[in-house]
Amino acid sequence: MRSHLLNDMTAEHYRRSVTEGVERVANRLATTRRPFTGVTPDQLAPVVSAIDLDRPLGDASAALDELEDVYLRDAVYFHSPRYLAHLNCPVVIPAVLGEAVLSAVNSSLDTWDQSAGGTLIERRLIDWTAQRIGLGPAADGVFTSGGTQSNLQALLLARQEAKTTDLAKLRIFSSECSHFSVQKSATLLGLGPEAVVSIPVDRDKRMQTVALAAELERCRAEGLVPMAVVATAGTTDFGSIDPLPEIAELAGLYETWMHVDAAYGCGLLASPTRRHLLDGIEHADSVTVDYHKSFFQPVSSSAVLVRDAATLRHATYHADYLNPRPTVDVGAPPASGGLRGRIPNQVDKSLQTTRRFDALKLWMTLRVMGADGVGQLFDEVCDLAAAGWELLAADPRYDVVVRPQLSTLVYRYIPRSVTDPALIDRANLHARKALFASGEAVVAGTKVGGRQYLKFTLLNPETTTEDIAAVLDLIAGHAEQFLGENLVHAS
Ligand SMILES: *Cc1c(COP(=O)(O)O)cnc(C)c1O
Repeated sequence: MRSHLLNDMTAEHYRRSVTEGVERVANRLATTRRPFTGVTPDQLAPVVSAIDLDRPLGDASAALDELEDVYLRDAVYFHSPRYLAHLNCPVVIPAVLGEAVLSAVNSSLDTWDQSAGGTLIERRLIDWTAQRIGLGPAADGVFTSGGTQSNLQALLLARQEAKTTDLAKLRIFSSECSHFSVQKSATLLGLGPEAVVSIPVDRDKRMQTVALAAELERCRAEGLVPMAVVATAGTTDFGSIDPLPEIAELAGLYETWMHVDAAYGCGLLASPTRRHLLDGIEHADSVTVDYHKSFFQPVSSSAVLVRDAATLRHATYHADYLNPRPTVDVGAPPASGGLRGRIPNQVDKSLQTTRRFDALKLWMTLRVMGADGVGQLFDEVCDLAAAGWELLAADPRYDVVVRPQLSTLVYRYIPRSVTDPALIDRANLHARKALFASGEAVVAGTKVGGRQYLKFTLLNPETTTEDIAAVLDLIAGHAEQFLGENLVHAS
């Protein structure tokens, strides 16, 4: 069994085994033309259930053969130009290379003595990101598992910095289009069910700052305490960017923590042409960035950044077995700016303990492609969304919601012959399901004003306007077929 341990004796086994796995995936990618096979849970569940986990195959080739059946053949492939659904990106090869390295070396980024250079690489990337945001010289941050955790940590810091410890009095302000992790975080942080004040959005799905000002004033008048304003830079549904400069001004006026959730919009930090869309983000007290969305990184790769490194102390706990208090410094770390002789233990800044070296993926990406390379890819999908909007706006079969700032399009099929909105809802739902079952394309759905809409999240630069047009035809076909059947039954 020791032959399966990765070490000096098994380096050759490792090379063969991983190479074979890479070969299988490469073949899959080279031959998979659709995003999905359309397999149903009922079809796949028995295949997975039939595997006897207590009878190992003993051999990587056999396990890979089996994996074709239980996973690889029917996986949802984000590299397909017709995968248009959620905030998932095709990944860049330098990042996948980084992934292979980091899992084999298996550093853990909690303490210096489990990661060494990995810690310094992560810190460089945090500094690099903070600089692109413009957070100033005292900025810091840490990599996280995703935007959900980044938002939770940012709001934890905001809670600890708030002007009261009476949790029932604290209020968080975020737009009605903000991510549900804001609400989730509020609950985890022990705030009451009323804690998140939902601010209405304008026609472009951006937070109405007049309404924000009114709610902040009302909060103060009622003797409550504003804990944080969460501005979203790229809403999950519409890619809309809240008016950051105005929100920053209000946060300043009411002495409130400003958090910018740029989980989606962070790709603009690298964009050669669209960085200005994030103007105002530099005023934030904390920022969430999901490199695994708009930096084309494999899941997971995310970070939370803060304007003032000192605020991260709210996540600091000490354990004798891990990161004893600095007074017992042993073995000075290498000389490096800002370390001041202290052992750089990233666990002091993180909600996690054992933590992946996800930063290496971004490092390899920047070292091979550069930031402009990533930013150009994101620009391409934003351009594609603009072109897709033109298509939809000119197409009488569809109602399209907002002209995109980033790369999402929300639209609804509107048949000529039918006026019952509930039936139109069902036709759109059906079209999405039928498309998924066909495996020809994958699109998302959401609600706008209580009605069922469909959504393209465009993160694949290989997708073309022809793909968009073709998928719109497919959707129309499925919707019409559904209406045909249902109108016949109704009459
Ligand atoms: C995706 C998203 C999140 C959550 O990020 P995860 O990485 O999925 O945890 C938070 N906020 C916004 C705006 C998002 O789009």
